[in-house]
Amino acid sequence: MPNLLEITGTVSPETTAAYLRHSFNVPEGIKQLRVSLRYEKPGICQLYLSVFGPNGYRGSRMLPGAVGLIEEVLEFGEGFGTLGAIAGEIEAGNWIAFLDLERTAYTVDYTLTVEASLEDGLKSEPFFATENGNDAPGWYRGELHSHTHHSDGHSSTAELVAAARRYGLDFLALTDHFTTAAWAELHSLSDEKLCVITSLEMTGHRGHANFHGLQDWINPFVDEFETWSINDAARAVRDQGGLVCVNHPFALDLGWRYHEFDWNLCDAIEIYHHLEGSSNTAMLTLWDGLLRAGHRITGVAGTDSHDAVKGRHRLGQVFTVVNSSALRSEAILKGVRAGCAYVTLGPTLNFWATSGASTAGMGEELEVNQTVTLEARISKLQFPARVIVMKNGFYHAHQDIAASETEIKLEFGDQNPQAGYYRLEVFAKDAQRQDGVGREWQNTLLLSNPIYVR
Ligand SMILES: [Zn+2]
Repeated sequence: MPNLLEITGTVSPETTAAYLRHSFNVPEGIKQLRVSLRYEKPGICQLYLSVFGPNGYRGSRMLPGAVGLIEEVLEFGEGFGTLGAIAGEIEAGNWIAFLDLERTAYTVDYTLTVEASLEDGLKSEPFFATENGNDAPGWYRGELHSHTHHSDGHSSTAELVAAARRYGLDFLALTDHFTTAAWAELHSLSDEKLCVITSLEMTGHRGHANFHGLQDWINPFVDEFETWSINDAARAVRDQGGLVCVNHPFALDLGWRYHEFDWNLCDAIEIYHHLEGSSNTAMLTLWDGLLRAGHRITGVAGTDSHDAVKGRHRLGQVFTVVNSSALRSEAILKGVRAGCAYVTLGPTLNFWATSGASTAGMGEELEVNQTVTLEARISKLQFPARVIVMKNGFYHAHQDIAASETEIKLEFGDQNPQAGYYRLEVFAKDAQRQDGVGREWQNTLLLSNPIYVR
């Protein structure tokens, strides 16, 4: 059988198109396709392959870190798919090989080849969905940002899930770049103790966002924004009952620059990213600006794990803890949206405010009656720490506390409350320094979500 497509093309720093499309026709009776993109990569040339069939999306492949001769391959058929590819029937009709030119510093020639086969591929065992969580209400801790080898991670889906169990996670959102290829396997690995959430990371040219709790693939290619913008994609996520989270907004080339983004479509933002270093401080500042503008956006953590068991990518070093009506994907995301959640690298938190007869917890609204009392209960504190109350984005008060295995009770007052919000930050106290306010990002232990004040 001759190749269905064999062409060459060039991309360069002068290429203005965000995406390059090469269409090909698939005749009746084809059982397998192999789509291959080859190019020599001297340095930064981020060119990713996706495939669309007559009935929609069929997978993506990316090798962003590699240099030298790159070959991105998607091979699939009924009951069979390589990394990043969606298994399924090969429909006759018009197909598209879709190249996403995120950026390139070099002029690079590429070869795109589509081979067809009349024979079935090696079928893998089918995956069967298992119990996904349980109906008990509670505070649940989990990971909202992780990758497998189906995009640019090192871990397999099974390795990622095993690590999630080993490090004590209750829920795990898989956020592979572009592709949903791991979802079926993910759903076969959950049980009543570990709830999995099917998500994908919109990996655009001007920033990244996690689309959480999806039923179906959502088009994450938002850089031809006249036809399909970040706002269109975010609305589609909401229509599926999903949740939009802006990721690592200050991650240099991967930072958030979708200036047309309607922040009313944003449910959550990463306020602590385990790989981002000092830009974590800027994330808090951006978040405070959004909160002061009246947005109610929940702050969450992300490991952004590309290796479930190694170094700073290892799961279980930072958690988002959510108060949820059940350990179920929908309930966890509802809890995140409601803002009854906090970010922790160890301690646990209870945090509420009272004013007269009104009481409110994180994500709730307090009706102010003259003065406000804020109460916090912190447990499992392994380091001496400074607890800081932030009021409308500014320092309000702090207390220094000693490490303690048992619960610590804290109380703060505000004689002059204003409309807005209170939130807590807890930092390990730096033994080398007794001066300064102590908001060093590398000492972060816990970040609460806001209690709102009317
Ligand atoms: Zn990521």
